[in-house]
Amino acid sequence: EELTRSLLARIHQLDPQLNSFISITDEPAIEQARAADARRAAGEQGALLGAPIAHKDLFCTEGVLTSCGSKILDGFKAPYDATVVARLKAAGAVSLGKLNMDEFAMGSSNESSHYGAVKNPWALDRVPGGSSGGSAAAVAARLVPAATGTDTGGSIRQPAAFTNLTGIKPTYGRVSRWGMIAYASSLDQGGPLARTAEDCALMLGAIAGFDPKDSTSVDQPVDDYLASLNQPLAGLRIGLPKEYFGAGLDSRIADAVLAVVEELKKLGAIVKEISLPNMQHAIPAYYVIAPAEASSNLSRFDGVRFGYRCENPQNLEDLYKRSRAEGFGAEVKRRIMVGTYALSAGYYDAYYLKAQKIRRLIKSDFISAFNDVDVILGPTTPNPAWKLGEKSNDPVAQYLEDIYTITANLAGLPGLSMPAGFVDGLPVGVQLLAPYFQESRLLNVAHQYQ
Ligand code: GLN
Repeated sequence: EELTRSLLARIHQLDPQLNSFISITDEPAIEQARAADARRAAGEQGALLGAPIAHKDLFCTEGVLTSCGSKILDGFKAPYDATVVARLKAAGAVSLGKLNMDEFAMGSSNESSHYGAVKNPWALDRVPGGSSGGSAAAVAARLVPAATGTDTGGSIRQPAAFTNLTGIKPTYGRVSRWGMIAYASSLDQGGPLARTAEDCALMLGAIAGFDPKDSTSVDQPVDDYLASLNQPLAGLRIGLPKEYFGAGLDSRIADAVLAVVEELKKLGAIVKEISLPNMQHAIPAYYVIAPAEASSNLSRFDGVRFGYRCENPQNLEDLYKRSRAEGFGAEVKRRIMVGTYALSAGYYDAYYLKAQKIRRLIKSDFISAFNDVDVILGPTTPNPAWKLGEKSNDPVAQYLEDIYTITANLAGLPGLSMPAGFVDGLPVGVQLLAPYFQESRLLNVAHQYQ
């Protein structure tokens, strides 16, 4: 309770500068903290018992606003907790509130939120990354020790890189999506952002595992992520994809990443060059598939069932049209239009089907690469955090920044970003990818390095 109160005070004091929280839930947090204290007093143990956290505002939380960063969910209070939220609650974690994000998780800068942009605590004129920008800023500013995020194309790893944190996107199907508002259902995965791999291991251990409420959840035992942290790295085969170090990468980031590789070599790792030949097609494929799925998922927001409804609708069609026109922001509308177009009769084969074929090729590239290496390593992002507003009017420039992260989502693989140092005072990240369900390997490598 004492810790919870002190962090709540810190949030009220510092967050007005950062805008990382959409809701601060003082009363429920104090109640949860007292309950955790009582459980501890009764002899219960557990690292998360009483640990303060906060959730990205697309995880449904019973009785608390879940906005997904959108005006269209104005006033929406979910009647239930997402599985991720329920599992952390059961482990005794205390939620201090809900964190800002790009609207419907569409973005890489947290500037598309209806609740305003979030600032990077390392440089207040810079973006914190997105779409889990509130999660990253809150943890980086030490407002909470860990937070949940989601990653459809990099939204855990990229903000972690921009704010000097560790974040892990699990294998598709490892963490339940039940109660997570869908963006692109075949790509979305929830996961933690924290300061260290060890903290991520604790969080992931609590949220991973089969959930019968999510039909894509995989019924496979969860590794003991803490137990594998200390495994030595001697003999670990690391692959450096040559396509990750080509044109477009800030050479200072390349140097920072290669310095991490040198450290890992000292710990016994063996480094090889590999190739992921279809990587150059990842951005166009992703920006067809993700909007296509989004256009379908977002059709449920019609002004009738959830959140915002326009004033004085004239008839049902007017209600749908105006509620959506007024409720969705510009980036969300752009994606609904792109996605609807890509799925429409006559264009489906040319765009959606072709993108799915590219997706298959990208997955095959990874599967063959993992015949020769245990993990793949590269930069998380081509550039450090950009200035607020710098790319706001150029969506394609922003899409291109996702080049290194989206392939893991297209293939369904687990990926982790960890701090790789600073470029001009701005944090940069190194990304590790592993075969399916080898989150423990990623956490192990990151922990050994850290
Ligand atoms: N930047 C990517 C997009 O806008 C990824 C976002 C995400 O992972 N949620 O789609």
